[in-house]
Amino acid sequence: MKPLEATNRYFRQAVKILGIDSKLERSLLIPFREIKVECTIPKDDGTLQSFVGFRVQHDNSRGPMKGGIRYHPEADPDEVNALAQLMTWKTAVANLPYGGAKGGIGCNPRDLSIHELERLTRIFIQKIHNVIGIHTDVPAPDMGTNAQTMAWILDEYSKFHGYSPAIVTGKPLDLGGSVGREAATGRGVVYVTEALLADHGKSISNQTFVIQGFGNVGQHTAQLLFEAKGRVKAVSDITGAVKNDSGLDIPALMKHAQENGGVKGFKLGDPIDPSSILMEDCDVLIPAALGGVLNGENANNVKARFIIEAGNHPIEPQADEIFAKKGIIVLPDILANSGGVTVSYFEWVQNKQGFMWDEEKVNMELQRYITNAYNSVKESCKTHNCSLRMGAFTLGVERVARATVLRGWEA
Ligand code: GLU
Repeated sequence: MKPLEATNRYFRQAVKILGIDSKLERSLLIPFREIKVECTIPKDDGTLQSFVGFRVQHDNSRGPMKGGIRYHPEADPDEVNALAQLMTWKTAVANLPYGGAKGGIGCNPRDLSIHELERLTRIFIQKIHNVIGIHTDVPAPDMGTNAQTMAWILDEYSKFHGYSPAIVTGKPLDLGGSVGREAATGRGVVYVTEALLADHGKSISNQTFVIQGFGNVGQHTAQLLFEAKGRVKAVSDITGAVKNDSGLDIPALMKHAQENGGVKGFKLGDPIDPSSILMEDCDVLIPAALGGVLNGENANNVKARFIIEAGNHPIEPQADEIFAKKGIIVLPDILANSGGVTVSYFEWVQNKQGFMWDEEKVNMELQRYITNAYNSVKESCKTHNCSLRMGAFTLGVERVARATVLRGWEA
Protein backbone atom coordinates (compact mmCIF):
# COMPACT_ATOMS: atom_id res chain seq x y z
CA MET A 1 0.00 0.00 0.00
CA LYS A 2 1.24 3.49 -0.85
CA PRO A 3 2.33 5.47 2.26
CA LEU A 4 -0.21 8.25 1.63
CA GLU A 5 -3.08 5.78 1.33
CA ALA A 6 -2.10 4.27 4.68
CA THR A 7 -1.80 7.65 6.41
CA ASN A 8 -5.11 8.83 4.96
CA ARG A 9 -6.79 5.67 6.22
CA TYR A 10 -5.76 6.36 9.83
CA PHE A 11 -6.75 10.01 9.43
CA ARG A 12 -10.21 9.01 8.16
CA GLN A 13 -10.69 6.60 11.05
CA ALA A 14 -9.83 9.41 13.47
CA VAL A 15 -12.24 11.78 11.70
CA LYS A 16 -14.99 9.17 12.07
CA ILE A 17 -14.28 8.62 15.76
CA LEU A 18 -14.31 12.39 16.37
CA GLY A 19 -17.42 13.01 14.27
CA ILE A 20 -15.69 15.70 12.17
CA ASP A 21 -17.84 16.85 9.24
CA SER A 22 -16.76 16.19 5.66
CA LYS A 23 -15.95 19.86 4.87
CA LEU A 24 -13.54 20.22 7.79
CA GLU A 25 -12.15 16.76 6.98
CA ARG A 26 -11.30 17.90 3.46
CA SER A 27 -9.72 21.09 4.70
CA LEU A 28 -7.56 19.16 7.19
CA LEU A 29 -6.47 16.64 4.59
CA ILE A 30 -5.47 18.81 1.62
CA PRO A 31 -1.87 20.03 1.96
CA PHE A 32 -1.36 23.77 2.44
CA ARG A 33 1.25 23.81 -0.34
CA GLU A 34 3.22 21.27 -2.40
CA ILE A 35 6.47 22.25 -4.08
CA LYS A 36 8.43 20.27 -6.64
CA VAL A 37 11.66 21.72 -8.01
CA GLU A 38 14.41 20.78 -10.40
CA CYS A 39 17.83 20.56 -8.79
CA THR A 40 20.60 20.25 -11.38
CA ILE A 41 24.21 20.21 -10.20
CA PRO A 42 27.60 19.89 -11.84
CA LYS A 43 29.14 16.61 -10.63
CA ASP A 44 32.79 16.54 -9.56
CA ASP A 45 33.73 15.10 -12.97
CA GLY A 46 32.16 18.10 -14.75
CA THR A 47 29.03 16.32 -16.03
CA LEU A 48 25.53 17.48 -15.06
CA GLN A 49 23.04 15.53 -12.98
CA SER A 50 19.41 16.48 -12.35
CA PHE A 51 17.42 15.58 -9.26
CA VAL A 52 13.89 16.40 -8.15
CA GLY A 53 13.35 18.09 -4.79
CA PHE A 54 10.09 18.28 -2.86
CA ARG A 55 8.68 20.23 0.04
CA VAL A 56 5.15 19.47 1.14
CA GLN A 57 3.71 21.89 3.69
CA HIS A 58 0.72 20.09 5.11
CA ASP A 59 -0.83 22.29 7.79
CA ASN A 60 -0.03 25.45 9.76
CA SER A 61 -3.07 25.81 12.02
CA ARG A 62 -1.06 25.39 15.22
CA GLY A 63 2.08 27.27 14.15
CA PRO A 64 4.99 27.26 11.68
CA MET A 65 5.21 24.06 9.67
CA LYS A 66 7.96 21.72 10.80
CA GLY A 67 9.62 18.62 9.47
CA GLY A 68 12.74 17.04 8.08
CA ILE A 69 14.32 16.88 4.65
CA ARG A 70 15.34 13.40 3.49
CA TYR A 71 17.82 12.40 0.82
CA HIS A 72 16.77 8.97 -0.36
CA PRO A 73 16.26 7.20 -3.72
CA GLU A 74 12.63 6.50 -2.78
CA ALA A 75 11.76 10.08 -1.78
CA ASP A 76 8.78 10.80 -4.05
CA PRO A 77 5.68 13.05 -3.84
CA ASP A 78 3.48 10.30 -2.40
CA GLU A 79 5.88 9.44 0.40
CA VAL A 80 6.78 13.08 1.19
CA ASN A 81 3.07 13.94 1.31
CA ALA A 82 2.38 11.13 3.77
CA LEU A 83 5.35 12.15 5.91
CA ALA A 84 4.26 15.81 5.91
CA GLN A 85 0.81 14.83 7.10
CA LEU A 86 2.31 12.59 9.80
CA MET A 87 4.34 15.62 11.00
CA THR A 88 1.12 17.61 11.46
CA TRP A 89 -0.35 14.95 13.77
CA LYS A 90 3.03 14.31 15.42
CA THR A 91 3.65 17.93 16.45
CA ALA A 92 0.06 18.10 17.72
CA VAL A 93 0.43 14.88 19.75
CA ALA A 94 3.66 16.28 21.23
CA ASN A 95 1.74 19.52 21.91
CA LEU A 96 4.29 21.70 20.12
CA PRO A 97 3.19 25.04 18.61
CA TYR A 98 3.86 23.77 15.10
CA GLY A 99 2.20 22.40 12.00
CA GLY A 100 3.67 19.76 9.71
CA ALA A 101 5.84 19.62 6.59
CA LYS A 102 8.37 17.33 4.98
CA GLY A 103 10.91 17.61 2.20
CA GLY A 104 13.01 15.28 0.18
CA ILE A 105 15.33 14.91 -2.76
CA GLY A 106 15.23 11.70 -4.79
CA CYS A 107 18.92 10.76 -4.65
CA ASN A 108 21.26 8.26 -3.08
CA PRO A 109 23.52 10.31 -0.79
CA ARG A 110 25.98 7.39 -0.65
CA ASP A 111 26.64 7.90 -4.38
CA LEU A 112 27.41 11.63 -4.02
CA SER A 113 30.61 13.28 -2.80
CA ILE A 114 30.49 15.81 0.03
CA HIS A 115 30.90 18.63 -2.55
CA GLU A 116 28.06 17.28 -4.67
CA LEU A 117 25.84 17.03 -1.60
CA GLU A 118 26.66 20.62 -0.68
CA ARG A 119 25.82 21.84 -4.21
CA LEU A 120 22.59 19.83 -4.22
CA THR A 121 21.52 21.25 -0.84
CA ARG A 122 22.31 24.83 -1.87
CA ILE A 123 20.42 24.62 -5.16
CA PHE A 124 17.41 23.12 -3.36
CA ILE A 125 17.37 26.00 -0.87
CA GLN A 126 17.79 28.55 -3.69
CA LYS A 127 14.59 27.13 -5.14
CA ILE A 128 12.54 27.04 -1.93
CA HIS A 129 13.96 29.84 0.26
CA ASN A 130 10.96 32.08 -0.43
CA VAL A 131 8.44 29.62 1.00
CA ILE A 132 10.30 28.54 4.15
CA GLY A 133 10.97 30.82 7.12
CA ILE A 134 11.42 31.02 10.88
CA HIS A 135 7.66 31.58 11.32
CA THR A 136 6.55 29.74 8.18
CA ASP A 137 8.33 26.43 7.74
CA VAL A 138 11.40 25.19 9.61
CA PRO A 139 13.29 22.20 8.12
CA ALA A 140 15.36 19.64 10.04
CA PRO A 141 17.36 16.46 9.38
CA ASP A 142 15.76 13.19 8.33
CA MET A 143 17.05 10.06 6.54
CA GLY A 144 20.23 10.77 4.58
CA THR A 145 20.71 14.30 5.96
CA ASN A 146 22.53 15.49 9.07
CA ALA A 147 23.87 18.50 10.98
CA GLN A 148 26.24 19.37 8.10
CA THR A 149 23.30 19.48 5.67
CA MET A 150 21.51 21.84 8.07
CA ALA A 151 24.61 24.07 8.22
CA TRP A 152 24.53 24.45 4.40
CA ILE A 153 20.79 25.21 4.55
CA LEU A 154 21.38 27.87 7.20
CA ASP A 155 24.18 29.42 5.15
CA GLU A 156 22.29 29.40 1.85
CA TYR A 157 19.08 30.74 3.39
CA SER A 158 21.06 33.47 5.20
CA LYS A 159 22.44 34.75 1.87
CA PHE A 160 18.89 35.76 0.93
CA HIS A 161 17.41 36.72 4.30
CA GLY A 162 20.32 37.66 6.62
CA TYR A 163 21.78 35.41 9.29
CA SER A 164 18.91 33.25 10.53
CA PRO A 165 19.91 30.35 12.81
CA ALA A 166 16.26 29.53 13.66
CA ILE A 167 15.51 28.66 10.01
CA VAL A 168 16.62 25.05 10.60
CA THR A 169 16.99 22.75 13.56
CA GLY A 170 19.40 19.86 14.03
CA LYS A 171 22.27 22.26 13.28
CA PRO A 172 25.86 21.80 14.48
CA LEU A 173 26.39 23.13 18.02
CA ASP A 174 28.79 25.79 16.67
CA LEU A 175 25.95 27.32 14.63
CA GLY A 176 23.31 27.41 17.36
CA GLY A 177 22.34 23.74 17.44
CA SER A 178 21.03 22.34 20.70
CA VAL A 179 22.86 19.90 22.92
CA GLY A 180 20.90 16.67 22.97
CA ARG A 181 19.31 17.14 19.51
CA GLU A 182 21.46 14.50 17.80
CA ALA A 183 20.36 11.77 20.25
CA ALA A 184 16.84 13.15 20.81
CA THR A 185 14.77 10.80 18.65
CA GLY A 186 16.46 7.73 20.14
CA ARG A 187 16.25 9.17 23.65
CA GLY A 188 12.53 9.87 23.18
CA VAL A 189 12.02 6.30 21.91
CA VAL A 190 13.67 4.97 25.06
CA TYR A 191 11.72 7.27 27.46
CA VAL A 192 8.37 6.33 25.94
CA THR A 193 9.28 2.62 25.73
CA GLU A 194 10.16 2.76 29.43
CA ALA A 195 6.74 4.28 30.20
CA LEU A 196 4.90 1.68 28.09
CA LEU A 197 6.80 -1.23 29.64
CA ALA A 198 6.16 0.13 33.15
CA ASP A 199 2.42 0.08 32.40
CA HIS A 200 2.81 -3.64 31.68
CA GLY A 201 4.83 -4.32 34.83
CA LYS A 202 8.11 -4.59 32.90
CA SER A 203 11.33 -2.63 32.62
CA ILE A 204 14.04 -2.17 30.01
CA SER A 205 16.48 -4.25 32.08
CA ASN A 206 14.33 -7.40 31.90
CA GLN A 207 13.42 -7.22 28.20
CA THR A 208 15.13 -8.26 24.96
CA PHE A 209 15.23 -5.91 21.95
CA VAL A 210 15.74 -6.18 18.20
CA ILE A 211 16.46 -3.03 16.20
CA GLN A 212 16.07 -2.77 12.44
CA GLY A 213 18.10 0.20 11.20
CA PHE A 214 21.37 1.51 12.63
CA GLY A 215 21.35 5.13 11.50
CA ASN A 216 20.96 8.10 13.84
CA VAL A 217 17.75 6.80 15.47
CA GLY A 218 18.71 3.12 15.67
CA GLN A 219 22.18 3.83 17.09
CA HIS A 220 21.08 6.21 19.82
CA THR A 221 18.17 3.96 20.76
CA ALA A 222 20.50 0.96 21.00
CA GLN A 223 23.07 2.88 23.02
CA LEU A 224 20.52 4.15 25.54
CA LEU A 225 18.86 0.72 25.88
CA PHE A 226 22.33 -0.75 26.47
CA GLU A 227 23.02 1.88 29.16
CA ALA A 228 19.68 1.01 30.81
CA LYS A 229 20.80 -2.68 30.90
CA GLY A 230 18.40 -3.76 28.13
CA ARG A 231 19.55 -6.78 26.10
CA VAL A 232 19.78 -5.79 22.42
CA LYS A 233 19.92 -9.18 20.69
CA ALA A 234 20.04 -8.23 17.02
CA VAL A 235 20.64 -5.17 14.87
CA SER A 236 20.56 -4.65 11.11
CA ASP A 237 21.36 -1.95 8.58
CA ILE A 238 21.77 -1.85 4.80
CA THR A 239 25.11 -3.70 5.00
CA GLY A 240 23.82 -6.71 6.98
CA ALA A 241 22.58 -7.96 10.34
CA VAL A 242 24.25 -9.29 13.49
CA LYS A 243 22.93 -11.24 16.44
CA ASN A 244 24.13 -12.19 19.89
CA ASP A 245 21.61 -13.88 22.20
CA SER A 246 23.43 -12.69 25.32
CA GLY A 247 23.19 -9.09 24.12
CA LEU A 248 25.28 -7.14 21.62
CA ASP A 249 28.08 -4.90 22.89
CA ILE A 250 26.52 -1.71 21.47
CA PRO A 251 29.45 0.70 22.02
CA ALA A 252 31.72 -1.80 20.20
CA LEU A 253 29.14 -2.22 17.42
CA MET A 254 28.86 1.56 16.99
CA LYS A 255 32.64 1.82 16.69
CA HIS A 256 32.65 -1.01 14.16
CA ALA A 257 29.85 0.59 12.12
CA GLN A 258 31.66 3.92 12.10
CA GLU A 259 34.94 2.39 10.95
CA ASN A 260 33.44 -0.02 8.39
CA GLY A 261 30.40 1.85 7.09
CA GLY A 262 27.92 -0.59 8.66
CA VAL A 263 27.30 -3.50 11.04
CA LYS A 264 28.48 -6.19 8.60
CA GLY A 265 31.54 -8.13 9.75
CA PHE A 266 31.07 -7.36 13.48
CA LYS A 267 33.01 -10.08 15.29
CA LEU A 268 31.20 -10.09 18.66
CA GLY A 269 28.03 -11.47 17.09
CA ASP A 270 26.87 -13.89 14.40
CA PRO A 271 25.78 -12.71 10.96
CA ILE A 272 22.09 -13.33 10.21
CA ASP A 273 19.91 -12.74 7.18
CA PRO A 274 18.82 -9.05 7.35
CA SER A 275 15.45 -9.94 5.84
CA SER A 276 14.67 -12.17 8.86
CA ILE A 277 15.49 -9.63 11.55
CA LEU A 278 11.87 -8.53 12.04
CA MET A 279 10.94 -12.16 12.78
CA GLU A 280 13.61 -12.64 15.49
CA ASP A 281 12.45 -13.86 18.86
CA CYS A 282 12.43 -10.87 21.25
CA ASP A 283 10.18 -8.91 23.62
CA VAL A 284 10.45 -5.54 21.88
CA LEU A 285 10.89 -5.01 18.16
CA ILE A 286 12.06 -1.56 17.05
CA PRO A 287 11.83 -0.79 13.32
CA ALA A 288 14.00 2.34 12.97
CA ALA A 289 14.47 2.55 9.22
CA LEU A 290 12.20 2.66 6.18
CA GLY A 291 8.42 2.71 5.90
CA GLY A 292 6.25 -0.30 5.07
CA VAL A 293 8.65 -2.97 6.34
CA LEU A 294 5.95 -4.80 8.31
CA ASN A 295 3.09 -5.75 6.03
CA GLY A 296 0.32 -8.28 5.40
CA GLU A 297 2.87 -10.82 4.19
CA ASN A 298 5.28 -10.94 7.13
CA ALA A 299 3.25 -9.67 10.12
CA ASN A 300 2.05 -13.13 11.13
CA ASN A 301 5.65 -14.23 11.69
CA VAL A 302 6.51 -11.47 14.15
CA LYS A 303 7.29 -12.91 17.59
CA ALA A 304 7.72 -9.71 19.61
CA ARG A 305 5.20 -8.64 22.26
CA PHE A 306 5.73 -4.90 21.70
CA ILE A 307 6.61 -2.96 18.54
CA ILE A 308 7.95 0.58 18.84
CA GLU A 309 7.78 2.57 15.60
CA ALA A 310 11.05 4.50 15.85
CA GLY A 311 10.99 5.09 12.08
CA ASN A 312 8.12 6.71 10.20
CA HIS A 313 5.23 4.43 9.06
CA PRO A 314 7.16 1.11 9.26
CA ILE A 315 3.87 -0.81 9.73
CA GLU A 316 1.28 -1.08 6.95
CA PRO A 317 -2.41 -1.06 7.99
CA GLN A 318 -2.88 -4.79 7.17
CA ALA A 319 -0.01 -5.61 9.54
CA ASP A 320 -1.50 -3.30 12.17
CA GLU A 321 -4.72 -5.34 12.07
CA ILE A 322 -2.81 -8.62 12.40
CA PHE A 323 -0.87 -7.27 15.40
CA ALA A 324 -4.09 -6.13 17.08
CA LYS A 325 -5.55 -9.65 16.65
CA LYS A 326 -2.39 -11.25 18.02
CA GLY A 327 -2.35 -8.90 21.02
CA ILE A 328 0.97 -7.31 19.99
CA ILE A 329 1.10 -3.77 21.35
CA VAL A 330 2.20 -1.12 18.83
CA LEU A 331 3.52 2.26 19.92
CA PRO A 332 2.84 4.44 16.85
CA ASP A 333 5.44 6.61 15.09
CA ILE A 334 3.69 9.93 15.70
CA LEU A 335 4.21 9.35 19.42
CA ALA A 336 7.25 7.03 19.57
CA ASN A 337 9.64 9.11 17.44
CA SER A 338 8.38 12.55 18.45
CA GLY A 339 11.47 13.15 20.61
CA GLY A 340 13.36 14.45 17.56
CA VAL A 341 10.94 17.20 16.68
CA THR A 342 10.42 17.99 20.36
CA VAL A 343 14.11 18.83 20.83
CA SER A 344 13.98 20.65 17.47
CA TYR A 345 11.37 22.85 19.11
CA PHE A 346 13.69 23.42 22.10
CA GLU A 347 16.48 24.35 19.65
CA TRP A 348 14.22 26.86 17.86
CA VAL A 349 13.13 28.34 21.20
CA GLN A 350 16.77 28.69 22.29
CA ASN A 351 17.67 30.39 18.97
CA LYS A 352 14.77 32.81 19.31
CA GLN A 353 15.65 33.56 22.94
CA GLY A 354 19.37 33.80 22.22
CA PHE A 355 19.96 31.70 25.33
CA MET A 356 21.25 28.13 25.29
CA TRP A 357 20.17 25.37 27.67
CA ASP A 358 22.41 22.66 29.13
CA GLU A 359 21.93 18.99 28.29
CA GLU A 360 20.33 18.15 31.62
CA LYS A 361 17.55 20.66 30.96
CA VAL A 362 17.05 19.48 27.36
CA ASN A 363 16.75 15.83 28.41
CA MET A 364 14.53 16.64 31.39
CA GLU A 365 12.14 18.69 29.23
CA LEU A 366 12.17 15.97 26.55
CA GLN A 367 11.15 13.37 29.11
CA ARG A 368 8.41 15.67 30.42
CA TYR A 369 7.01 16.39 26.94
CA ILE A 370 7.06 12.80 25.71
CA THR A 371 5.61 11.41 28.94
CA ASN A 372 2.81 13.99 28.78
CA ALA A 373 2.19 13.02 25.15
CA TYR A 374 2.07 9.33 26.09
CA ASN A 375 -0.36 10.02 28.95
CA SER A 376 -2.60 12.15 26.71
CA VAL A 377 -2.63 9.37 24.07
CA LYS A 378 -3.63 6.86 26.76
CA GLU A 379 -6.46 9.19 27.85
CA SER A 380 -7.60 9.43 24.24
CA CYS A 381 -7.51 5.60 23.98
CA LYS A 382 -9.71 5.38 27.08
CA THR A 383 -12.18 7.98 25.82
CA HIS A 384 -12.54 6.42 22.38
CA ASN A 385 -11.86 2.79 23.33
CA CYS A 386 -9.21 2.37 20.66
CA SER A 387 -5.61 1.29 19.99
CA LEU A 388 -2.60 3.45 20.82
CA ARG A 389 -2.32 4.32 17.11
CA MET A 390 -5.90 5.53 16.89
CA GLY A 391 -5.54 7.21 20.31
CA ALA A 392 -2.59 9.18 18.91
CA PHE A 393 -4.33 10.02 15.63
CA THR A 394 -7.55 11.16 17.32
CA LEU A 395 -5.56 13.31 19.76
CA GLY A 396 -3.50 14.88 16.95
CA VAL A 397 -6.42 15.42 14.57
CA GLU A 398 -8.63 16.80 17.36
CA ARG A 399 -6.01 19.39 18.41
CA VAL A 400 -5.40 20.51 14.83
CA ALA A 401 -9.13 20.63 14.05
CA ARG A 402 -9.72 22.83 17.12
CA ALA A 403 -7.00 25.27 16.07
CA THR A 404 -8.28 25.35 12.48
CA VAL A 405 -11.85 26.16 13.57
CA LEU A 406 -10.69 28.78 16.08
CA ARG A 407 -8.70 30.62 13.41
CA GLY A 408 -11.83 30.86 11.26
CA TRP A 409 -12.52 30.97 7.53
CA GLU A 410 -13.01 34.65 6.57
CA ALA A 411 -10.84 35.61 3.59
N1 GLU B 1 12.72 14.22 10.73
C1 GLU B 1 12.29 14.09 12.08
C2 GLU B 1 10.88 13.51 12.14
O1 GLU B 1 10.45 12.81 11.25
C3 GLU B 1 12.45 15.39 12.85
C4 GLU B 1 11.70 16.56 12.29
C5 GLU B 1 12.05 17.89 12.97
O2 GLU B 1 12.83 17.91 13.90
O3 GLU B 1 11.50 18.90 12.51
O4 GLU B 1 10.18 13.65 13.11
